[in-house]
Amino acid sequence: MNKLKLFNPNRQLASFVSAMSILVLSSISMSLAQSVGTLPVVPQPQHKPLVVLISIDGYRNDYMSRGFTPTLKRLADAGTYADNFTPVFPSITFPNHYSLVTGLYPDHHGLVNNTMQDPSKTKQIFKLSDRESVTNPFWYEEATPIWISAKQQGKIVSTLFWPGTEVLNHGLRPDDWLNYDDNMSSDKRVDQLLEWLNRDESKRADFATLYFSEVDHAGHEFGPDALEVNEALKRVDAAIERFVKGLERLDLLKDTTFVITSDHGMAHVAQDHIINLSMVLESTKSAKLVWMGPVAGFNVESVDAEPMLERLKAYPHMSCWHKSKIPPEYHFGTHRRIPGIFCLADVGWSILPNLGMKVIPGMHGYDARAKEMQGLFIVAGPGVKKQTLAVVNNIDVYSFLTRLIKIKPEPNDGEDILFKQIMD
Ligand code: AMP
Ligand code: ZN
Ligand code: ZN
Repeated sequence: MNKLKLFNPNRQLASFVSAMSILVLSSISMSLAQSVGTLPVVPQPQHKPLVVLISIDGYRNDYMSRGFTPTLKRLADAGTYADNFTPVFPSITFPNHYSLVTGLYPDHHGLVNNTMQDPSKTKQIFKLSDRESVTNPFWYEEATPIWISAKQQGKIVSTLFWPGTEVLNHGLRPDDWLNYDDNMSSDKRVDQLLEWLNRDESKRADFATLYFSEVDHAGHEFGPDALEVNEALKRVDAAIERFVKGLERLDLLKDTTFVITSDHGMAHVAQDHIINLSMVLESTKSAKLVWMGPVAGFNVESVDAEPMLERLKAYPHMSCWHKSKIPPEYHFGTHRRIPGIFCLADVGWSILPNLGMKVIPGMHGYDARAKEMQGLFIVAGPGVKKQTLAVVNNIDVYSFLTRLIKIKPEPNDGEDILFKQIMD
């Protein structure tokens, strides 16, 4: 079969590099012996473009060199790859996923951590284990995520998980979405998204998301250097190969642009690298520790913050600030959901209220510029330059996505630089 025939007539100017990218993508799909699914294929006569934003939670940039993700490597080699993908601070899941789809720093989109309290809604605590809080629009409505803008501008959106896709925003939701199910296997996630994409083009998505959690899970439980992480990498890579193969089967591959990211990396945490706050908490009983781990936060309404800050500053391996004094490069500290006193541990250290808590072997949340926190960034598809960029920042991805999907962006904190850098 002549792969160049696969080009859309209106993309005849696509470069040789793009043609090569498509050949590589096709070769990935054809390298699988078995076909995915047996659903009848719905024809795609118009070859409407599809943009798929994929997140592999906790995929550290150097995992690529381990050799367990050959599909990702082939996609990276066929398109644009970043040696470093720098998260927003704090390098935590919900803040970063929402920045990717809003172009806003956590201070401005409101998801400042995976666990939050809000002074104007004192009863509810936002935490991932509490479905009622995770699905409450209140926490998300300070920003308009890209799928809502896309819907407002006449596009169709299918989301196979992404923080915020389960909630109404501006009265809208993605066309396809599911309540988050951590137990759904990576393969199942792929198959469900493929099923949604196998539709008549008038109903098929222009933009889709796909989210994988098992690399992050393994990194936390066993540490980033563990064999279990490599096994998780293999499974997720196989799921992405399955996705590519499925898209080929549905005649969608040549029209698909993949934007593959992660939210942060993962650091090894030493069991004895604990910053034990028991003395400070003992001496300032009314200060409440509401965040702990790589970043810590104290609610200090009724506390004289200055003496407490002085005591905290005496501890090695962490920096503490009044929230209004966090250095500007963190872009963090103005949101009401950030506690009054905020501390950041050195990479590999944990800030804990006492020595009685078990430290898990892998953590993130540290300074987003740390090498251990760098994530994954690949773009592959028609018109994508074949190149390696030194650094791409999470905050700039939103503008790029809006250009790919051809929608008007909301005002945001990112720079609109990636489209020119990445596309022919
Ligand atoms: P963390 O490593 O603590 O920053 O959080 C990562 C975890 O977030 C992953 O292990 C997922 O299980 C979980 N997660 C991702 N998306 C959602 C969601 N929509 N609702 C609840 N939990 C989620
Ligand atoms: Zn994460
Ligand atoms: Zn994690």
